[in-house]
Amino acid sequence: MNVVHGRDHAGDLEVSTEVVVVGSGAGGAVVAATLAEAGMDVIVLEEGGHVRPEEHARMRPSESLRHMWRDAGFTLAFGVGRSPMINVMMGRCIGGSSALTGGVCFRVPEYVLGDWRALGLTDFTPEHLEPYYAEVEENVHVEDVPLSARSRSTQLFGEGAEKMGFSLESMRRNTNGCVGWATCNFGCPERAKMSVDISYIPRAMKAGAAVYSDCLVERVTTNGRRAVGVSGRVLNGPNGAPGGRLTVRAKRVVLACGAMFTPLVLKASGIGKGSGQVGKNLTLHPAFRIMARFEERVAGWNGALQSAYSSAFEPDGIQLNSVFVPPAILAATQPGIADDHVRRAKTLEHLAIFGANLHDEAGGVVRRGLGREPFVTYRMAKKDAAAVPKALRIAGETFLAAGAKEVFLPVLGLEGFSPDEFRKIDLEKISPKRLECTSQHPLGTCRMGVDASSSVVDDRGQTWDVEELYVTDGSTVPTSLGVNPQLAIMTLATRFAQRMADRRPS
Ligand SMILES: Cc1cc2nc3c(=O)[nH]c(=O)nc-3n(C[C@H](O)[C@H](O)[C@H](O)COP(=O)(O)OP(=O)(O)OC[C@H]3O[C@@H](n4cnc5c(N)ncnc54)[C@H](O)[C@@H]3O)c2cc1C
Repeated sequence: MNVVHGRDHAGDLEVSTEVVVVGSGAGGAVVAATLAEAGMDVIVLEEGGHVRPEEHARMRPSESLRHMWRDAGFTLAFGVGRSPMINVMMGRCIGGSSALTGGVCFRVPEYVLGDWRALGLTDFTPEHLEPYYAEVEENVHVEDVPLSARSRSTQLFGEGAEKMGFSLESMRRNTNGCVGWATCNFGCPERAKMSVDISYIPRAMKAGAAVYSDCLVERVTTNGRRAVGVSGRVLNGPNGAPGGRLTVRAKRVVLACGAMFTPLVLKASGIGKGSGQVGKNLTLHPAFRIMARFEERVAGWNGALQSAYSSAFEPDGIQLNSVFVPPAILAATQPGIADDHVRRAKTLEHLAIFGANLHDEAGGVVRRGLGREPFVTYRMAKKDAAAVPKALRIAGETFLAAGAKEVFLPVLGLEGFSPDEFRKIDLEKISPKRLECTSQHPLGTCRMGVDASSSVVDDRGQTWDVEELYVTDGSTVPTSLGVNPQLAIMTLATRFAQRMADRRPS
């Protein structure tokens, strides 16, 4: 069975099914496969298009941004007060953001599970989650990144870390046969990244699920207090604009549109007003990228895109992650104009990069915007704002300890700093509005909890307000994780789905 391309379907689309899953990313794909394999009749609806992995891997980054990324990668969370503007990245395609990941997989840290248990979610112990993790890790082939796959960029940061008194640990990733092209975010030429479009979606289809791309769900339809389907538009108009009507009748509705869009669908449907929590509690793991120039040739694009991390600074709310940026994009970020810029761009092969993510407090809110897109605000907590200069200082000093000749901070308009200049700069004084801050991890906007007054779904993923309406994506994560979330999302989705599979909707 193949993905049905909504854009090639003429006119309206009207179908009936037992379960409709909205969104084909990490959370939706797992539920679709689990329920289809349990013998249920499943339809998956995805707003984005269907790009096969081998096509994705042949695209230039700018093409991939256009075909696979939401808003071409430019979605913004507006920083309120002394908070940075945050560029939030998401997928909009079959496979959702899962198709764009660096493959990094972390289990939820025990201290984070402790926070969940303190909120009353007492089941959430490592022992309880173990079988769900094991299942997901097998299905998406989570493996250690070998030391040999570390790029020179990561090795240099690791050498600096040893001198600074901390060390790097190897990451785990959902890869099988990675040879280190470092293009994970823009498709893997080897099909080695086991994102859900390669793992769970084909399993769902093999078990009989029908998967539709280019189908935008606008509302959940209800009968009294029960979900009975969804409605929206088929994106079969000119250039993928909304065209025919989309009507799906179902006995069970599963929303997995991601933390930015599930709350919008709930709000548009008038669901979840009771708790007042829909769209609130957004966490983002605000992220910063620090670059350094070395005399030696680094060629940081040779090796796994992401291979090592350090949680040595977790008490300060900082996680350090290896990362690299495709040279085509990196060149554009170099300072200088005209000949000066070209001279800088020619030094790309001498650049090393490392990232820092914040384990943030829930400072964001997702509201309905003027049109389809959300209006997102984010007020960075004081403790998180205080962690930013610390993170930049640690990463910069680490590169200097490894022998870097110049450090580049993620601050708009700043040139590189020599070692002496970097040590003198007062990082506390940098205006948050000048920070280049990104997020790939929106979470928490329909959080799971133990009562209807402070959460949106229960610990089975069912909404408190409407029966047979479930949420199974990153929006259910109750608190910031401090680590990359896809494994946590897929694990929670597996747990939700197995409970759904225990009982067929009548
Ligand atoms: C560039 C990038 C790199 C990342 N790297 C990592 C990593 O290395 N490790 C890690 O753990 N995490 C990583 N992440 C994060 C990870 O991909 C996400 O946390 C995870 O995929 C979120 O799963 P989800 O199900 O909540 O949403 P998504 O996977 O985003 O899926 C939501 C899907 O729903 C669709 N949708 C939205 N609204 C509608 C609607 N109304 N109707 C129909 N469909 C709709 C969207 O188009 C999308 O395809 C990365 C993310 C990005 C963007």
